[in-house]
Amino acid sequence: MAKLTINDIDLRGKRVLARVDYNVPMAEQDGMMVINDDTRIRATLPTLRLMIERGARITLAAHLGRPKGERVPSMSLRPVADKLAGLIGQPVAFCDRCVGQAAEDAAAKLEDGGLLLLENVRYHAEEEANDPAFAGQLAKGTDIFVNDAFGAAHRAHASTVGVANLIAARGGQCVAGLLMERELQFLGDELESPERPFVVILGGAKVSDKIKVIDRLLEKADTILIGGAMAYTFKLAKGLTVGKSLVEPDKVDVARAALDKAAERGVQFLIPTDNIIAEPTEIDGKFAFGDHRVNDSENIPVDFEGVDIGPKSAEVFRGVVAGARTILWNGPMGIFEDERFAGGTFAVAKSVCEATANGAKSIIGGGDSVKALNNAGLGDQVTFMSTGGGASLEFLEGKALPGVAALTDK
Ligand code: AMP
Repeated sequence: MAKLTINDIDLRGKRVLARVDYNVPMAEQDGMMVINDDTRIRATLPTLRLMIERGARITLAAHLGRPKGERVPSMSLRPVADKLAGLIGQPVAFCDRCVGQAAEDAAAKLEDGGLLLLENVRYHAEEEANDPAFAGQLAKGTDIFVNDAFGAAHRAHASTVGVANLIAARGGQCVAGLLMERELQFLGDELESPERPFVVILGGAKVSDKIKVIDRLLEKADTILIGGAMAYTFKLAKGLTVGKSLVEPDKVDVARAALDKAAERGVQFLIPTDNIIAEPTEIDGKFAFGDHRVNDSENIPVDFEGVDIGPKSAEVFRGVVAGARTILWNGPMGIFEDERFAGGTFAVAKSVCEATANGAKSIIGGGDSVKALNNAGLGDQVTFMSTGGGASLEFLEGKALPGVAALTDK
């Protein structure tokens, strides 16, 4: 069901509460918290600029980290207010409370086009409990709720669902921001009837995390390419040996069922035929990987762990991706955090970018694939990168996200 967006409504002079995703990585430097990566803040700028241009009075609510209902100073959003002010080129007021008199006074002072950021909503345990009284305090004085926090839309919390329900109940509009709208467009509408061939690349650690996505995409994709540790559970299902690779033996049946479904539906389902392998050892009491090498066999030797797809598989994957018109990628092909095992993920990233340059639509389903593309400096060479991790996966599974469901239908 299509949802109203900020483009559909009148904003002038209206008090807007906008939920954004400012859960940015921070580190302490000389006794101060410094933002390491401002991607999530930048991602909200189009929504904020449009609302400012249209004269809304904007209060921003967000969470940072997991303070579990306590005021943890290292998880304050104050540095985000300063960063945002610099990026957007206008002052951003900050209130060190998110509810109560101080927050209400700060919001009441806003002029048309003014911005206020509230302190971390997760300083209150009532946020994650979706407590109605807390949601009522957050929603006080608000005319319109805007949700631009796709990354938090899979959680029914006070600042995502509670406020939306309260504002809707009193006749107010609850709308998607521009970032939320793009996420729903690319992960939803574009994949509903994708231009073919539609190639899905899935990697990462566990079959159990992604089996629902695999199952759903088996009904839509022409080809599914599997990498990462997930591939070894599929190898087990095919009766191959996996050595010491990370596997989920209790998910072999699930993997076999997916292989059967692919065969029934005529979906090409490829797992790596060669791998990079390494010997897990202990050095000075610490876990480490010893020598690594290409294993040019479908089976992994007894004492070794599969840590990446091999060069032949990367080449086969490249050929498939080159012929695609729509590509969805979620999850690394190996332990890409270790540069010795990042080759397969990097090769897939390059293949996806090449296909995009040749006219394919490429959609990156969040999490570590986004990190891998950004690490390789290729983030701007794909069609769309999702800002959600868990939210993207749940959405790709076909689940209704509570934060989206709570918005007003068109
Ligand atoms: P996910 O969050 O499910 O996308 O999984 C990402 C994680 O999977 C990354 O931290 C990778 O290091 C890990 N991973 C990918 N391939 C392997 C592998 N062959 N063995 C162990 N871990 C892997």
